[in-house]
Amino acid sequence: MLEDNYKQRGLRNKLVKNLQKKGISDPVVLDAIGKVPRHFFFENALLEHAYQDKAFPIGEGQTISQPYTVAFQSEKLEIRPGDKVLEIGTGSGYQACILLAMGARVYTIEYNRKLYETTRDFLPLIGFRPYFFHGDGSKGLPAKAPFNKIIVTAGAPIIPSALTDQLAEGGILIIPVGDRESQKMVRIRKRDGRLFKEEFANFAFVPLLGEQGWKA
Ligand code: SAH
Repeated sequence: MLEDNYKQRGLRNKLVKNLQKKGISDPVVLDAIGKVPRHFFFENALLEHAYQDKAFPIGEGQTISQPYTVAFQSEKLEIRPGDKVLEIGTGSGYQACILLAMGARVYTIEYNRKLYETTRDFLPLIGFRPYFFHGDGSKGLPAKAPFNKIIVTAGAPIIPSALTDQLAEGGILIIPVGDRESQKMVRIRKRDGRLFKEEFANFAFVPLLGEQGWKA
């Protein structure tokens, strides 16, 4: 049923070239995009959408992020094999698969119970095993902290202090921050206990909900 044939691998290689043209250069990221079958996240009738560089609805008003966005955030995290990574906003699980394919240990938290259950049950079937959590990721995951890397895949009104608190020394947080429609990609690095901030281009994510997020 879940078939990954030469045609899909060909489309995936095209997607990798497309992302390279758009400025993604980390070979580990490109390799992961080339490995994870994004079409497994799409219904049969929608397969042609799987390897276009577009976000796509996954139900519950949520989306599977655009491949460029996934690649951009993954690259900015500077993943090293064995890094302990927290992802806020499991959604479809595609981003979590990319991080696993890059050699990270992934803890992923999802606010929407139905999405949490669906993805928790589905990812192991296609061979990907992050640790799944259900809850408000705007508060991080204190029981499992600290993390080498934290990635927020929903647009936040502010940088939740819980997340910078749960960052290990030398760690990196990547988070889109702004209003509900558009957010600036922000990277925070923790060095000698101090926080260093960098800003990148604008993106459009679905809103981060919860205590440190937007009202639903
Ligand atoms: N990373 C996902 C994209 C997710 S879209 C992927 O690769 O497909 C953003 C997700 O964040 C949605 O599933 C939404 O339900 C979830 N979300 C929003 N606010 C959240 C919060 N406070 N904690 C955890 N998840 C949250």
